[in-house]
Amino acid sequence: MNELIEGLRQRLGERVLTDEAVRAAHRRDTWVMGELADLEERLGDPPLAVVEPESTAEVADVLRDCRAARIPVITYGGGSGVCGGVRTDGCEVVLSTRRLEGLVELDARDATARFRAGTNGLAAEKRVQQDGFTIGHWPQSIELACVGGLVATRSAGQYSTGYGNIEDMLLALEVVLPDGSVVRTRSTPRASAGPDLRQLFLGSEGTLGVITEAAFSLRPLPEASRGQAFHFPDLSAGLEAIRRCVQTGWTPPVVRLYDAIESGRQFAEWGGEERAFLLLLHEGPAARVELELREVAALCEAAGGVAAGAAAVDDWLERRNHVPGFRTFLEKGIVVDTIEVAATWSRVEALYEQTVASLNQVDGILTASAHSSHSYRSGTNLYFTFAARPEDPTRLAEIYRECWRRTMEATLACGGGIAHHHGIGRVRRDFLAAELGRGGVGLLRSVKHALDPAGLFNPGVLIPDGD
Ligand SMILES: Cc1cc2nc3c(=O)[nH]c(=O)nc-3n(C[C@H](O)[C@H](O)[C@H](O)COP(=O)(O)OP(=O)(O)OC[C@H]3O[C@@H](n4cnc5c(N)ncnc54)[C@H](O)[C@@H]3O)c2cc1C
Repeated sequence: MNELIEGLRQRLGERVLTDEAVRAAHRRDTWVMGELADLEERLGDPPLAVVEPESTAEVADVLRDCRAARIPVITYGGGSGVCGGVRTDGCEVVLSTRRLEGLVELDARDATARFRAGTNGLAAEKRVQQDGFTIGHWPQSIELACVGGLVATRSAGQYSTGYGNIEDMLLALEVVLPDGSVVRTRSTPRASAGPDLRQLFLGSEGTLGVITEAAFSLRPLPEASRGQAFHFPDLSAGLEAIRRCVQTGWTPPVVRLYDAIESGRQFAEWGGEERAFLLLLHEGPAARVELELREVAALCEAAGGVAAGAAAVDDWLERRNHVPGFRTFLEKGIVVDTIEVAATWSRVEALYEQTVASLNQVDGILTASAHSSHSYRSGTNLYFTFAARPEDPTRLAEIYRECWRRTMEATLACGGGIAHHHGIGRVRRDFLAAELGRGGVGLLRSVKHALDPAGLFNPGVLIPDGD
């Protein structure tokens, strides 16, 4: 082991960090079970070292050295993952992308920008805005996450209904494979050159290599931006309004529909109490925004919506990224989490009803609710929130797992997809076989085995063990 660390030091010098505080800070991501283990002082041991390569060549060197020494490698971006994608056990090297930072190139004529993988999400967005563009990717964690992490988890932003998810913006990738070889996909607007290799790494969660650069297709900053809101008698009426809008061809970037519980919590002031509440933000050329605003309003009203005033949208824009940390709740004996799933329009209502009903049977459940925040021609996502306070606080982890199991089972029973945008990590790993089927998991394992035969890349994450 010392030999590996010494070898890495010869290559990276002081960017091989072995002091206690740095290693301890890289033991986990933001998964609530990591937070709980930390609180209860039962987290795994810190990694052997944290390394901070500054170039693609250095990443390749680190990977080759670790592979030769048979030491696991965990890639660490912003640490904002919420599925347990980063968790150490004392025997790994954590490769931090912190110093792989900044813009590589921006081409205004082509509307493209290439960033190194450790660039913070908000810093990347601000940089392209200086030149009159937007990436259009606004995850709630934009200030915490890095470009590489956003790609590695197949993330979704708040403006996705109009602008798409990370896979729709990603133009090209550079990835270092476990054997140290480098794959660079070409920056062309489309290719019919065999399977799309970008897709292999979108959602790979550090198990197939290290993403070192990502290029995006940009949009001009919008000429106009207008919000509107509606309340509906129930979630079902609001879902029908969204379906009609999206299938007609209107795609406001932000489309968020809250059930009565969440509306009451967040939009009571605007008539959201005991009703479903829909927020819409329209962006783009002014003429299109005006037209879309009117046409979408007519569709919403025809589906039973009542206008609730644009101030609700301004209020949401102001506070949209402020969320209390999980720890605040855990310290009070309450476990809270969110679970995002997806389903086609004909299945989504049953999925909502069955999941909420099932969560409400959990011991100590305080609330179970959902909103839809990413819509498509064929369906939408549901983003469930649950909170539970078991009488016996030592049962927090057990109750948490039960809430997850019930949500995954209800989703699968209703024909939905178990993960819309947070990824698999550790929390969903046991449900992946049900999602992908035997054939799908077998294929994923074969790809993993071909790239990483010794299983050194982020072991325990994403890919289920055994048969
Ligand atoms: C408050 C909050 C709000 C959130 N909101 C959203 C949201 O709106 N939308 C959304 O999609 N997600 C959201 N998330 C989840 C999280 O921010 C995303 O999953 C994000 O993409 C993780 O990026 P990161 O850089 O922090 O990755 P990390 O947490 O560091 O890593 C996540 C996973 O990706 C791997 N990884 C990281 N970088 C690389 C790389 N360069 N190459 C290969 N593998 C890599 C890691 O090994 C790990 O498995 C939220 C999280 C929080 C805490």
